[in-house]
Amino acid sequence: MPAATKTDLMVLGAGAAGMICAAEAGKRGLAVTIIDHARAPGEKIRISGGGRCNFTNLHCSPENFLSRNPRFAISALRSFSQHDFVERVKARGIAYHEKTLGQLFCDNSARDIIDMLTDDMRAAAVRLELSTEVFEVGHRDSHFEIRTSNGVWHARRLVVATGGKSIPKMGATGLGYDIAQQFGHTVTETRAALVPFTWASNMAEIWKPLSGVSVDVKAECNGVSFREAMLLTHRGLSGPAMLQISSYWRDGDPLKIDLAPDLDLEGLLKQARSERPKTSPWTVLGELLPKRLTQRLEEVLALGAMRLADMGNAAIGEVAERLHGFGLVPGGTEGYRTAEVTLGGVDTRELNQKTMESRLVPGLHFIGEVVDVTGHLGGHNFQWAWSSGVAAGRFN
Ligand SMILES: Cc1cc2nc3c(=O)[nH]c(=O)nc-3n(C[C@H](O)[C@H](O)[C@H](O)COP(=O)(O)OP(=O)(O)OC[C@H]3O[C@@H](n4cnc5c(N)ncnc54)[C@H](O)[C@@H]3O)c2cc1C
Repeated sequence: MPAATKTDLMVLGAGAAGMICAAEAGKRGLAVTIIDHARAPGEKIRISGGGRCNFTNLHCSPENFLSRNPRFAISALRSFSQHDFVERVKARGIAYHEKTLGQLFCDNSARDIIDMLTDDMRAAAVRLELSTEVFEVGHRDSHFEIRTSNGVWHARRLVVATGGKSIPKMGATGLGYDIAQQFGHTVTETRAALVPFTWASNMAEIWKPLSGVSVDVKAECNGVSFREAMLLTHRGLSGPAMLQISSYWRDGDPLKIDLAPDLDLEGLLKQARSERPKTSPWTVLGELLPKRLTQRLEEVLALGAMRLADMGNAAIGEVAERLHGFGLVPGGTEGYRTAEVTLGGVDTRELNQKTMESRLVPGLHFIGEVVDVTGHLGGHNFQWAWSSGVAAGRFN
C-alpha cells in the first residue's frame, strides 16, 4: 500500500467555507490540502445569485440566522464580519453593487469571487485536489486518516466543509453529517429551506393559470413574517417572501399572506363606494393589485356578485380582511432538488464558537452549511460560510 501523504490540515469540500478556511490556515504557514469530488471548486458560488453571487449582506446580524442555539454564530460573525469580506472584495478590485435590502452582488460574475478564493489559496500554497472521492475518515494516534480515490492522507487537523444536501445534482451529499455522527456528534433534524412551495392537489388547478404573477406581500408563518415579493408558478409559490418563510414552515402549517401590506384596502373600498357606487369591489381591487390575481380571488372567495353601493361596512371589511390575511396550506415544498440551503445540521452545542472545533474530538472542525446555522435569504448564508471558515482557519 502506498505511504500516506502528510498534511497539517485537511479541508473536505472546496466550497465557500472550505476555500476561505484553507487560505486562512495556509497564510499561517501550515501545510493545507483541500479536496472535493467535484471537477471545479465553488460550484454553488458559480450558480448563486443568478450567476452574480449575492456574497454578503450589509445588515447581516445574528438575527438573520436560524439555529437551535441562536447565539452560537455571534462570535464568528463579529470576528470576520460582512465588512471584513467587503474589504477583501474591494482590495481585489471586484466591482459590486447593492441590489436591495443590503444585498451585495458582483457587477460581472460570481466567477470573480471564485477566482479571488482560488488565488488566495494559491498564494497560501494550499494544495487543491479535485475529482477526489472520500471513501473513509478515521482518527488514530492523534491524526486523521482520510482514504480517498486519490490516495491516503494523514492530517493533524480535519475541517469538514462539505455543505448541506441541497441540489444533489450539483454534488451535494450528506457526507458531513455522516462524519459528524461517526465521531459521536449530534446532528439536528435537517430539511430543505429557502425553497419554493408546491400547491396542494386541490389548489393546483385553481392557481396554475396565474403562473408568472408577482405581488408584494407580507407572508407569515409560526409568528414570523417577511415583507417581500411572492411569485406564483405552475408548481406553487416562490419568490423571496416564500423562500424566506419556507425556513419557518413545517408540513401542514398554514401560511397567512397579506396581499396588500402597504394599502388600507378597507379605507380605499369605502372611498370608492362614495365616489363610484355602481362599481364592483373587485374592479377597484384589480386597479390596486395584479388583475389576474383579483379575478381569481373573486372566484375563489365566492363572496357573491356585489356592487359597492350594496355593501355595508361589515361586507367591505370582510373583503379587505380576506385579502390582508389570505390563508392557505401548501402541499409541500420542492425539497432538496431546488432548495438553496439545508436547515439544521451539526449541533452547535458540541462546537467551540470561536474556532468551530469539536468539543468531542480535538482537531476536528465543522464549518459552513453543514453546521446547524442557517441564514435568511440575501447573502447571509455566504457570510456564515466566510465567518465560520475564517474562524476555523485561525484556530489556535
Ligand atoms: C441555487 C443557489 C443559489 C444560492 N445563492 C446564494 C446567494 O446568492 N447568497 C447566499 O448567501 N447564499 C446562496 N446560496 C446558499 C450558498 O450557496 C450556501 O449556503 C453556501 O454555498 C454554503 O457553503 P459551504 O462551503 O458550506 O458549502 P458548499 O458551497 O455547498 O460547498 C461544499 C463542497 O463540498 C463538496 N462535497 C460535498 N460532498 C462531498 C463528498 N462526499 N466528497 C467530496 N466533496 C464533497 C461539494 O462538491 C462542494 O464543493 C445559494 C444556494 C443555491 C443552491
